[in-house]
Amino acid sequence: MLDLRDLSKQELALLLEEMGEKPFRLGQLLRWLYRGRARGVSAMSDLSQDLRRRLSQRAGLTQMTPERVLLSKDGARKLIFPAGEGQAIESVLIPEEDHYTLCLSTQVGCRMACAFCRTGQMGFSRNLRPGEISGQILSALDLLGDESLPLTNLVFMGMGEPLDNLDNLLPALEHILSSEGLGFSQRRVTVSTAGLPGELERLGRATPASLAVSINAPDDELRDRLMPVNRRFNLDDLKAVLLNYPLKPTRRITLEYVLLAGINDHPAQARQLAMWCRGLRCKVNLIPFNSHSGAQWRAPENNTVLAFQEILASHNLTALVRRSRGRDVAAACGQLAGEAAGDGLSSL
Ligand code: SAH
Repeated sequence: MLDLRDLSKQELALLLEEMGEKPFRLGQLLRWLYRGRARGVSAMSDLSQDLRRRLSQRAGLTQMTPERVLLSKDGARKLIFPAGEGQAIESVLIPEEDHYTLCLSTQVGCRMACAFCRTGQMGFSRNLRPGEISGQILSALDLLGDESLPLTNLVFMGMGEPLDNLDNLLPALEHILSSEGLGFSQRRVTVSTAGLPGELERLGRATPASLAVSINAPDDELRDRLMPVNRRFNLDDLKAVLLNYPLKPTRRITLEYVLLAGINDHPAQARQLAMWCRGLRCKVNLIPFNSHSGAQWRAPENNTVLAFQEILASHNLTALVRRSRGRDVAAACGQLAGEAAGDGLSSL
């Protein structure tokens, strides 16, 4: 059956029109679907009984309910949702000083096959539907209840490549950012990508959400090895698209760089990265590698990380070191594999 949370605003408007309803019903319906977190059509109490009856004959609402919530020592919570066929997807709820950040998944698995990423190693199963993307947020809001810290920040840095599922990401983003929907601020919603140029252009045209791009290597030879997508779209292609990416005057693109000891952490590589960044309005997030089962790499020593950061700073680049959260429950960047492929969490 049709899931109302899979539909864009325009598709919902069409559905209501087809059912002979007045346009103002759309706002009511949107409020129930998102801020109201309705669990079913029958709960939408300001819609007439008749409309609710006819609506529920055509459409329903799927509920995303975590089958498990794992709590990290550092306060991060990993929400594991069943995704059919014994598989699972994960979101990570991260407490910060004055707010929560939620890290969201967009696919079951991933097609990018990045060598250092655990999700990349599990292969690809399927795209998440728009309602499964926004559903992770509704579920996190349910879990938080009336906790004092608000959930204000979203990052699409969980399982999957968001731009490889753009048709489902865009309607979800529309509801996430719209004031009739969840009303998140566009600065606080970040889509992270390994860099698919055509899709990047489409993303830039379609949404004002913030952008993060995973660079991870300063030259094509190394990036080809770490991120197979680079063999199709290399660093030059990527830079050309980023130079034209529509950005509001005060905004910057975030570049993510996973630091792998002895692989991409040499001072010369920091200088090369700084050269590549020239002309781009960007800042760099350095993420020391998070280990996972089967990984052949390790994170650099602290002083190597700081030296790398220093070099970027000396080239007038803002570079922050991001210490990943939730490592003890395999909730950190690059550790998400879903329960079925996880650290023996499941017996399926
Ligand atoms: N596919 C998207 C979003 C998921 S990855 C993308 O590539 O951006 C989110 C971030 O985690 C990426 O920047 C990726 O480079 C980083 N990452 C992946 N594996 C990691 C690991 N094992 N340790 C640290 N960061 C990792």
